[in-house]
Amino acid sequence: MSRVVREVHLMQLPREVLLGENLVGEVVNVANRLGLGRKALVLYGPRTKKIAGKDVEDVLREEYEVEGVTVKGATMEEVERVLSIIGDHGSDWLIAVGGGSIIDVAKLASFKAGVPFISFPTTASHDGIASANASIKDLGSKTSVKAVPPIAVIADVKVIKTAPYRYLAAGVGDMISNLTAVRDWQLAHRIKGEYYSEYAASLSLMSAKMVIKNADIIRLGNEESVRKVVKGLISCGVAMSIAGSSRPASGAEHLFSHALDMIAPKPALHGEQVGVGTIIMAYLHGLKWERVRETLKRVGAPTNAYELGIEPELVIEALTIAHTIRPERYTILGKDGLTREAAEKAAKITGVI
Ligand SMILES: [Zn+2]
Repeated sequence: MSRVVREVHLMQLPREVLLGENLVGEVVNVANRLGLGRKALVLYGPRTKKIAGKDVEDVLREEYEVEGVTVKGATMEEVERVLSIIGDHGSDWLIAVGGGSIIDVAKLASFKAGVPFISFPTTASHDGIASANASIKDLGSKTSVKAVPPIAVIADVKVIKTAPYRYLAAGVGDMISNLTAVRDWQLAHRIKGEYYSEYAASLSLMSAKMVIKNADIIRLGNEESVRKVVKGLISCGVAMSIAGSSRPASGAEHLFSHALDMIAPKPALHGEQVGVGTIIMAYLHGLKWERVRETLKRVGAPTNAYELGIEPELVIEALTIAHTIRPERYTILGKDGLTREAAEKAAKITGVI
């Protein structure tokens, strides 16, 4: 029998999003409501174990069979290790208590094992806290792997506020990048006929506009600031889920950041690099790049190579190789990328170098 080929657009979204204070105790209620199985695996890092991981583990133990695992980094090796623990323990679901790496490992491991995971972020530094994409290091380089979004997001404002302010500012960088990411997406839609969702694009742009408008509130670094950033980052995740790809929140500025991750001896935070990349890509797109820089300045995020702690020469190199990172992702950099002269000029005009 021949199968009829139909265009199906799949949107997977978290079922519950909790944003508030003192939410460790809520973990059990969320798991009960979602009808998750008896065996839970809690993932944390050495630091996030102390911040909230251990507490989550203890609370869950009252009703569930719990195993805890300390994750060392977002590598394929760690994903494999977690997978074998899931196998041995027979885990029905996972909960990731941590920043980027821990959530990324849980995301990919849960996808591969076919079990759900809950995201319990301890920082608000990137939009991966609610998205389906995991950034994992494999064979030396970092790649973005499509997995599944968390079944629930539990964002405890008090926990996130204990992280250094720098992380919150990085979250702003990851959101403002939607301005250029959406432009790149529109370009790919027009030039390559790529699928485009106006709804996902609008939702993504809303987060970027929100941080521009609320930069001064975010700069205060208080609980209201955390709420604003977390809500925006979750919306980015939802926008990506609606689009079915990271397109609404990842364009050339992300390729630039991935290039820096590859060549810089000590890369800065993802959101910090992406923010600086957005200044340059906004310039290339003919957008108001000064507004991007101004917003990043107002929230205290880096706006140049010096503040990123990266050599200007490496910024130029990253700009010239960015288009090679994901050749299938068409952006303002085109198929051939920037020439060295163009890269240097764009970085100089925008004050990045
Ligand atoms: Zn990002």
